[in-house]
Amino acid sequence: MKNEPVKIKIIEHNTHDVLRIVTHKPKGLDFTPGQATEIFIDKEGWQNEGRPFTFTCLPNEDHLEFMIKTYPSHEGVTNELLKLKEGDTLIVNDIFGAIAYKGEGTFIAGGAGITPFISIFRNLKAHNKLGNNRLIFANKRKKDIILEEEFKEMLGNNFINILSDEKTENYDYGRISESFIQENANVLKLFYVCGPPPMMDAVKKQLEQLKVDKDKIVTEEF
Ligand SMILES: Cc1cc2nc3c(=O)[nH]c(=O)nc-3n(C[C@H](O)[C@H](O)[C@H](O)COP(=O)(O)OP(=O)(O)OC[C@H]3O[C@@H](n4cnc5c(N)ncnc54)[C@H](O)[C@@H]3O)c2cc1C
Repeated sequence: MKNEPVKIKIIEHNTHDVLRIVTHKPKGLDFTPGQATEIFIDKEGWQNEGRPFTFTCLPNEDHLEFMIKTYPSHEGVTNELLKLKEGDTLIVNDIFGAIAYKGEGTFIAGGAGITPFISIFRNLKAHNKLGNNRLIFANKRKKDIILEEEFKEMLGNNFINILSDEKTENYDYGRISESFIQENANVLKLFYVCGPPPMMDAVKKQLEQLKVDKDKIVTEEF
């Protein structure tokens, strides 16, 4: 797939700083849950500014969906997306991504690092294969949690939230630590980790301390 234009069907806020964008789907576009594409905005001055975003829809759906955290202070692509409306055009390019489902385990996401896991969990649900997969989702505040209700409904007690900047009843408070992983993970199984670089570095070190084999850890840095 190279430089394929797609029209925006829906553009709306999913959380206070995350956009949900639904577009038409080009014929022949195929991906594996967890994969991403490079997106450009088809607007003068932006056609050379590609940024990676993950498909959050399922491969067999007739549209594409993206969940995109916006950073107005970067004055980059995600800020520009905030100005778009239905009918505007995006360009999707190559498809790539390091995260794919390899079996039951613990998924650890920080912020927008949840996006590859959205498609993976939706796909497992569609095939009745959610099993005992577990999701640990780290955010600053409750209002930052992407698709909280959907994950609760899919995973029940296997959905664990931890908030670093807000103390709220029924939510763990603080940052992910070795002991937090030990208490909450399917420790002997696979680990999938996705989030911003500082969180990834910390969690990878913690998994190393917990003697998790490197080949049991699937990661992607955002
Ligand atoms: C494989 C992959 C998949 C991804 N999927 C998703 C997804 O599905 N959803 C999602 O939300 N995100 C996703 N991301 C992250 C996403 O690509 C970035 O958030 C996005 O590229 C940011 O683009 P931007 O143009 O707004 O800002 P940037 O490209 O980060 O920044 C634009 C400019 O702002 C300046 N800048 C950079 N950092 C700062 C800062 N802290 N303060 C001030 N200025 C700064 C720099 O000069 C930079 O050139 C993914 C990343 C990868 C690698």
